[in-house]
Amino acid sequence: MREKTRRHQQLEILNCRYKLSSYEKEELKKLDTGYEGELKFDSIIESFISGTNIIHMKDYSFDPGDIDVRLLTRSKDDVAHVQTDNLVIAKDFLYTFEIKNYSFDLNYTDGKWFFENGSEFSDPLIQVVKQRDMLGKLLGSFRRRIKMYNVLVFINENQTIYNLPTSNEIIVRSNLIKKLSKAMVNNHYDHNGLVADLESRRLFDLKYQGDAVVDFHGLEKGVFCAGCGERLARLHRYKFKCNKCKSEFTVLNVLNQLIKELNILNRTWPVTPSFIQQYSDGEISEYCIRSKKKKGLLKY
Ligand SMILES: [Zn+2]
Repeated sequence: MREKTRRHQQLEILNCRYKLSSYEKEELKKLDTGYEGELKFDSIIESFISGTNIIHMKDYSFDPGDIDVRLLTRSKDDVAHVQTDNLVIAKDFLYTFEIKNYSFDLNYTDGKWFFENGSEFSDPLIQVVKQRDMLGKLLGSFRRRIKMYNVLVFINENQTIYNLPTSNEIIVRSNLIKKLSKAMVNNHYDHNGLVADLESRRLFDLKYQGDAVVDFHGLEKGVFCAGCGERLARLHRYKFKCNKCKSEFTVLNVLNQLIKELNILNRTWPVTPSFIQQYSDGEISEYCIRSKKKKGLLKY
């Protein structure tokens, strides 16, 4: 399973409990479609990987650390971490697959990308170039040599890219299966050492995606469905129900969800029984929270 980023989860929670700006709603929509695209890619590549020794690392991020950034034109914040949607070791090569789930058409002319209306679209290959540079340096610092391919995948089958040049860097949905079936082949060598090195430098998004800048008092309180965001209704003493998606939740489910949300939003908030009770808008009593905590059922 692939986790949503912390920012994505924050926006989902705030979409129920706060009035998001139109800019943030747009951001949430982009994150939703991006995540859907990643899941689509996962299910396609998984069919090639199962039963092989191919390695698939999802959402691999690392801190370039003391890598010399003077040669780059980017700000230091931007290079503070490098993120890849997929890192795959197959056929003794290392692949990165960056997934773009764009539903709009693009036009590629003279090395530039344009929307259908003619306005310029920021070059998605810039990200791939950055990955190649930084990952190359990371591998160098491990003193490991492996040939690397950095690939951009346009996963949306409703998208057309006009005048797309043939290149190994870009795969569109219509030739994804063909390309993968050639590349997703067993490794001959053992790459566990490389994987261990990569894992040792892995950065989790809690590290670089900070707390949400939002006042606790400004949040709408209550309990909401983890699946669809609808406000939950009390079914009886021990259960809640979502009237939209029909899911049912025990009090313990709901409590763990509330605690998870608080941590996702802001890890500096004091997660205490009274704080959780307030956040639930009194749906769950402090007494109930304390007794569940005593039984070791809650993590906070
Ligand atoms: Zn629901």
